[in-house]
Amino acid sequence: MRASPIWHPFTQHGLGEAIPLVTHAEGAAIFTADGRRIVDGISSWWVTTHGHCHPRIMAAIAAQTERLDQIIFAGWTHEPAETLAHGLIEMMPEALTRVFFSDSGSTSVEVALKMALGYWANRGEPRHRLLVLEHSYHGDTIGAMSVGARGVFNQAYSPLLFEVGTLPFPGAGREQETLDALEAACRDRPAALIVEPLILGAGGMLIYPAWVLAAMREICARQGVLFIADEVMTGWGRTGTLLACEQAGVVPDILCLSKGLTGGAVPLAVTMATEPIYAAHLSTDRARMFFHSSSYTANPIACAAANANLAIWREEPVLERVASLTARQGKLLAALSSHASVRNARALGTITAIEVEADKGEYLSSLGPLLLASFSRHDLLLRPLGNTIYVMPPYCIEDADLALIYTGIVAAIEDA
Ligand SMILES: *Cc1c(COP(=O)(O)O)cnc(C)c1O
Repeated sequence: MRASPIWHPFTQHGLGEAIPLVTHAEGAAIFTADGRRIVDGISSWWVTTHGHCHPRIMAAIAAQTERLDQIIFAGWTHEPAETLAHGLIEMMPEALTRVFFSDSGSTSVEVALKMALGYWANRGEPRHRLLVLEHSYHGDTIGAMSVGARGVFNQAYSPLLFEVGTLPFPGAGREQETLDALEAACRDRPAALIVEPLILGAGGMLIYPAWVLAAMREICARQGVLFIADEVMTGWGRTGTLLACEQAGVVPDILCLSKGLTGGAVPLAVTMATEPIYAAHLSTDRARMFFHSSSYTANPIACAAANANLAIWREEPVLERVASLTARQGKLLAALSSHASVRNARALGTITAIEVEADKGEYLSSLGPLLLASFSRHDLLLRPLGNTIYVMPPYCIEDADLALIYTGIVAAIEDA
């Protein structure tokens, strides 16, 4: 093959690591041009929920391509978007009555932040401060990076990132500190708190209890601070329920959904909002409208894929598959946790994570690349976060492939 001109995301090309050429995928398996069958242990970066190339989603995409490819969404609408918006309103918490489309998790977060600030501006009491949880990740655009953890990932851009109020992560025994910090931060009249409910993904699969999520929501409601739930990773069954917020009985003011919205087949995102947030923008004054759009807002083919995903959720036992995967992984994780180099085994729904004992838990430490190379030799798609190894498979994965993942993890720890 000719040398590739492609500049890949989160890739240091200077290290000359091989980049496999993928030809097709089915269920939990990815096939490469050199004849390998790879087990997808991370749902192709957390997006693939039901499995690759789900026939109903593929058929919906194919059918939509014969009718309408793309249409401007400012001042125009189409059936796939209308159906999807109604379907989401039926499926998601009742208070979320408005649906704004965009095309990635990061943009759904940008939209959420702009909605929150727009809400306060249009009420005539402008607020600009945002509260976040330590170790958060909300995407890689400037606004999304600003509300996320600072580190080597965004050091070069740090002068552009806006300041936020950071609450300590509610680790075991430190939950009250987080809640006290939130109470105190609310006195500065922030616009909103944005959180990843129950588990911080890119921050290292850090889990915190549902009662803390409920308590944070309660404080925000009482203090008149908007509560934004970024369910880009946790949504669509990932944590055992359709939304992670359900486990805490929490309904946010603004909800971000992307990754599994189309079952992971094509890019699409929505930001859902309550009526007061929409109403704050509703006026005969054009200056109060919500000033946001991207070219492919509510692309009809992406909406058709999402409608097929919603149909799968309505008509197939998705949560039973999730529960089965949770139970099967639980046994494998229990076995893995007895390994001498494994620390802090934890699980939430379909996600499991461990830490490999290492001198230094830094992302750029040498352990990560060693593990990665070993996973590749074992035909596994796993991508450690520093010394954290996590598994987040598609819900259709079978026992044999799950076993390959967990034996591969033991082998990689021993190789490293
Ligand atoms: C992945 C992720 C995002 C960003 O989504 P993209 O589609 O990659 O832009 C935002 N928030 C959370 C919690 C995520 O896991």
